[in-house]
Amino acid sequence: MLNIILMGPPGAGKGTQAKKIIAAYDIPHISTGDMFREAMANKTPAGLLAAEYINKGLLVPDDVTIKLVKERLAKDDCAKGFLLDGFPRTIPQAEALETLTKEINRPISAVVNITADKEVLVKRITGRRVCPACGAPFHIETLKPKVEGVCDYCGATLIQRKDDTLESLAVRLNAYENQTLPLVKFYEERGLLHDVDGLIGLEEVFKTICDIFEEIK
Ligand code: AMP
Repeated sequence: MLNIILMGPPGAGKGTQAKKIIAAYDIPHISTGDMFREAMANKTPAGLLAAEYINKGLLVPDDVTIKLVKERLAKDDCAKGFLLDGFPRTIPQAEALETLTKEINRPISAVVNITADKEVLVKRITGRRVCPACGAPFHIETLKPKVEGVCDYCGATLIQRKDDTLESLAVRLNAYENQTLPLVKFYEERGLLHDVDGLIGLEEVFKTICDIFEEIK
């Protein structure tokens, strides 16, 4: 069973790898960032609350985030496995997830931690563009769409996320270092951690992840 957590700093390539993983392994993609963006677009109460934090680069409070994931993981499609992308991001979230996965008998099988250094992350994030309709990620230098500013998959006009500006990025990297990095030790202690160098190239990163999955399957 592939019950996977995908971790890594903003810009490490989580979104890109997540797309490849769900296509290859046919498991649901549970991205808290995507779920919040959808709630924001629909202007739901949770979305409006989340926007206050997200647009500044801050983490959304744990109780809101945990509730969202709890509801999602209980759905039937997660019985065949799941890919958590961007969750957990704090120790309380990881602890809540540990309790929840025990309750629903869907234990985490591996944590894939994509690593990259800060300079690269800044370049990647500030050049990042995303499709607001289907979520496909692009980059103005390294992952150009076939037609500038247009999504290859659905034809929508690409945008830059509000939290992909230099100012928000500094706050996000700080949140990552202070709140998310302790999770590396948390999962290492549980024997679940697999570090993957995020700088070896898109396809190589994907291959390394597939090798990890073959090992644990
Ligand atoms: P992402 O697309 O994963 O980079 O998430 C975008 C933003 O959504 C983050 O910068 C946070 O503000 C918020 N967010 C996503 N996942 C979480 C989480 N697990 N805990 C708190 N905030 C989150």
